[in-house]
Amino acid sequence: MKDTFKHRGMRNKLAQVLIDKGIGNKTVLDAIRDIPRHLFMDSSFEGHAYQDKAFPIAANQTISQPYTVAFQTELLALEGGMKVLEIGTGSGYQTAVLLKCKAKVYTIERQLELFKKTNLFFKKMGYRPKKAIFGDGYKGLPDEAPFDRIIVTAGAPEVPKALLSQLKVGGRLVIPVGFEEQIMTLYVRTSEKEFEKTEYGSFKFVPLLEDKN
Ligand code: SAH
Repeated sequence: MKDTFKHRGMRNKLAQVLIDKGIGNKTVLDAIRDIPRHLFMDSSFEGHAYQDKAFPIAANQTISQPYTVAFQTELLALEGGMKVLEIGTGSGYQTAVLLKCKAKVYTIERQLELFKKTNLFFKKMGYRPKKAIFGDGYKGLPDEAPFDRIIVTAGAPEVPKALLSQLKVGGRLVIPVGFEEQIMTLYVRTSEKEFEKTEYGSFKFVPLLEDKN
């Protein structure tokens, strides 16, 4: 499959849909306009790639809805060169958006099949996360901590303490919290011991699974 003018046109329309839904961050919108989302999905679903919808990928997982990706990335308030931990690599689309925003990305996936598939795809496409790890993101990545930003792209029943502890002071964690539905939640670490929590709208994610490797 290739990336063509037609795909570019569809991405511009998708970016407009996201603007209409309230996304305003120019870097994030440019990433949406730039990244060939259809290549992150099976070719037979190409027609769905530029609708604002989540879609099934391998191993019973989903590629997040573009609005969700844009909303979470906007909440991160990234500045160039930040060290970002992503939990739930999945298709790699969110990873690519973070890379376009000039983040240094550490990403963790617990499904071996997806981990392998997505890493081959990263190589083929020239996307270069600092580290892509097969493992349980519930524990974060203590060896590389602290992080400027942490993003969780699966629904967490509660906020993993390990992730809060791996944030820099001033750092931000964006995580959907809940079971059937999740509330998008932002934690800002205001001091060594304090966090400021803000809740946003409700979303639907596949579950963040603990200790199931
Ligand atoms: N960002 C991805 C979203 C994929 S869905 C995308 O846009 O494609 C969420 C992903 O989180 C799934 O691939 C799932 O396998 C993964 N996941 C669930 N629990 C996890 C855990 N404890 N550690 C790492 N990854 C996890």
